[in-house]
Amino acid sequence: MTERIAIIGAGPSGMAVLRAFESARRKGAVIPELVCYERQSDCGGIWNYTWRTGTDEHGEPVHASMYRYLWSNGPKECLEFADYSFEEHFGRPIPSFPPRAVLHDYIKGRIVRSGILPYIKLSHTVRRVSFNKDTQKFTVAVKDLVNDRISSSEFDYVFGCSGHFSTPNVPEFPGLDKFLGRTLHSHDFRSADEFAGKNVLCVGASYSSEDIGIQCYKYGAKSVTFSWRTKPMGFKWPEVMEEVPLLEKVVGRTAYFKDGTKKDVDAIILCTGYLHHHPFMEDALRLKSRNRLYPQSLYKGIFWLDNPKLMYIGMQDQFYTFNMFDAQAWYARDVVLGRIKLPPRSEQEVDIQRWTKKEEAIVDATEGIDFQTEYVRDLITPTDYPRLDVDGVAKMFKQWEHHKMDNILTYRDQSHTSLQTGTTAPAHHTPWMRALDDSLEAFLNQPETKAAAE
Ligand code: FAD
Ligand code: NAP
Repeated sequence: MTERIAIIGAGPSGMAVLRAFESARRKGAVIPELVCYERQSDCGGIWNYTWRTGTDEHGEPVHASMYRYLWSNGPKECLEFADYSFEEHFGRPIPSFPPRAVLHDYIKGRIVRSGILPYIKLSHTVRRVSFNKDTQKFTVAVKDLVNDRISSSEFDYVFGCSGHFSTPNVPEFPGLDKFLGRTLHSHDFRSADEFAGKNVLCVGASYSSEDIGIQCYKYGAKSVTFSWRTKPMGFKWPEVMEEVPLLEKVVGRTAYFKDGTKKDVDAIILCTGYLHHHPFMEDALRLKSRNRLYPQSLYKGIFWLDNPKLMYIGMQDQFYTFNMFDAQAWYARDVVLGRIKLPPRSEQEVDIQRWTKKEEAIVDATEGIDFQTEYVRDLITPTDYPRLDVDGVAKMFKQWEHHKMDNILTYRDQSHTSLQTGTTAPAHHTPWMRALDDSLEAFLNQPETKAAAE
């Protein structure tokens, strides 16, 4: 009987799994039956923008954490698919840091081109995954959101591709319940315009805090204060932006910090990260992790140690994104197809410990980049994933880190060179700080907009 695979989520990770199997099928392999369940009405994962926050039209939690005016925070050349360049998709070279809509278009183009759409059931949310030791099968319960119907079916393998930047981590601070301004988590942040003329406090010292703070400044916030817990970001901020230690309490509109300083603020944005939240997995299958480069209990960062027929894709903290998900998907596919044999559990455990020890010795972003580069290299070497120059990607990530330290407001104006085509990206027609229109049309419309900007 044909084996069956359930894939949970049609974001970049779930689509990588579908493309990996489809690519093998097109080369003549016999592949299992694939069913991908996606809760949203479109594929693209977190790259689908919605104005909604809280729950969606079906009462499901809104997955989106992306906001208007979100531009790629890393060079597009670092995430380019090894078998589908940006130049091929857009028919010409484009600048290195595109806005969300442009990356969404690229992702969607890859889906259409690879012919994986028929495998995807949109508006289907997975409610429960359990495993029966006797039959060696998973039971997956799914709700068809449009027809309001729940059904279950059995699968031989499950891929968990539901992302981990969607369920907010929301800490409590004394006095927040009585704060006289607006409080929100970055998951619910949608438009920086709302904060024009306001004094904004961003709690957290990572990518969301940095980017949301800069967005607010770009769209007219009066001041932005960043509050850090472990260490400050350390960029050279404009005069109206500063970093202060952790928020201690809020009284009225005044925020008090650990070093005894205080600031009157109009809004507090908790940029305090996300929880790994996989509520549909039964206890014995559920990944529990903080946001880290090597989540525990996953051999090769993929295979659930207690049951390697369950595979998780994209559960790492991420320098690499799309091409890392591809690397994982190609490796996992080859295990399912019997092309790669997994070692005994004891060896898997030793391997996990080895990577974990390396991860725990990382002291800065450069070492983090090197770690994830080695991880991706380890996965692609034994598969037929198209050639990916991971050393080139690592070099580019490090240049990007330097550009950010040099000037946090202009790093997105830099041009990088595609490792697939060898083309250096053209400069964008408008410096990023002045590019207020983030639409695909404005971004791609180089010549006319250039004339308008001059
Ligand atoms: P997701 O994109 O989150 O997709 C998971 C999918 O699973 C979703 O479609 C969701 O609806 C579906 N799903 C969840 N639960 C269920 C269920 N129970 N049943 C059915 N379907 C379900 N990366 C970059 O490379 N560049 C960037 O500039 C960048 N910016 C980012 C900005 C923000 C604010 C965030 C939060 C992340 C950003 N990322 C960026 C990282 C981003 O996580 C990855 O690019 C990528 O989207 C991860 O893909 P994924 O498929 O693993 O997860
Ligand atoms: P993150 O990288 O996990 O960082 C979470 C931050 O919250 C850390 O600084 C952490 O501090 C802090 N924090 C957690 N709990 C706290 C508490 N109780 N009190 C104070 N601080 C606390 O999460 P993220 O910044 O949301 O980034 C998630 C993903 O989104 C990343 O992959 C990023 O690339 C992506 N992103 C991209 C863009 C873009 O421009 N394209 C924009 C935003 C986000 P400690 O260091 O002390 O733990």
